[in-house]
Amino acid sequence: MLLKDRVCVITGAASARGIGRATAHAFAAQGGRVVVLDLDAGQAEAAARDIGPAHFGFACDVTDKAACRAAAEEVVGQAGRIDVLVNNAGITQPLKLMEIDAAHYEAVTDVNLRGTLYMSQAVVPTMRAQRAGSIVCLSSVSAQRGGGIFGGPHYSAAKAGVLGLAKAMARELGSDGIRVNSVTPGLIQTDITGGKLTEELRAEIIKGIPLGRLGVADDVANACLFLASDLSAYLTGTVIDVNGGMLI
Ligand code: NAD
Repeated sequence: MLLKDRVCVITGAASARGIGRATAHAFAAQGGRVVVLDLDAGQAEAAARDIGPAHFGFACDVTDKAACRAAAEEVVGQAGRIDVLVNNAGITQPLKLMEIDAAHYEAVTDVNLRGTLYMSQAVVPTMRAQRAGSIVCLSSVSAQRGGGIFGGPHYSAAKAGVLGLAKAMARELGSDGIRVNSVTPGLIQTDITGGKLTEELRAEIIKGIPLGRLGVADDVANACLFLASDLSAYLTGTVIDVNGGMLI
């Protein structure tokens, strides 16, 4: 059991077909006690119930600093500790450069980047006191190749920001026993992407993927499991590309 009795907080884990939910199942299968955070309390609780009786969920908007702090306090109150944080909550908007206005920019940057900062700040005091913890940040191939099919330039910028933030946190928190790593998924079939691909576009994208298929949420969940567990005990500040070879 890679995560036996570890308390694992995953943001944005209520979405049924999402990467966060798949990660929650992968962690639970390895003995982790999962905390599902998402915008809607009912959906977060239902997702936790779906994973199993040992797990719990509640509402937390990661763009709200006080809510992140309150969520971390609630987790410590209920479970006594926080061993793992997966900063998974994210949104995207398929816009071109000149279409992005202030509201678009704020929405995408707030959830993806500000949310990663606030939720990490919320768990660090507990992880510091434990002198142990693993934080996994969801970035994107969009940050590395400059845009994707579904993400506009503001999404690429926010996800590139996540990579910089994660590395800076890794540098600062290493001496506290806290590791921080990132995952950059390629095109993964979830609600962000689901149903939006025509057959022609799918075939065109797959031509550029050496492994010859789109990703599934479990592909990313398994990378998160590795980074959350002691299998990656000597990794911090790293980035794992989960993209089928799209960037080779
Ligand atoms: P998804 O839409 O299935 O899930 C995202 C979840 O985040 C949802 O449950 C949503 O309610 C939640 N959320 C949104 N705003 C929130 C907020 N303010 N506070 C708390 N929760 C919030 O998306 P997914 O495809 O599973 O993506 C998960 C992560 O992986 C995201 O960060 C995304 O940017 C990243 N990613 C996805 C892909 C892909 O192809 N699917 C590729 C690269 C990166």
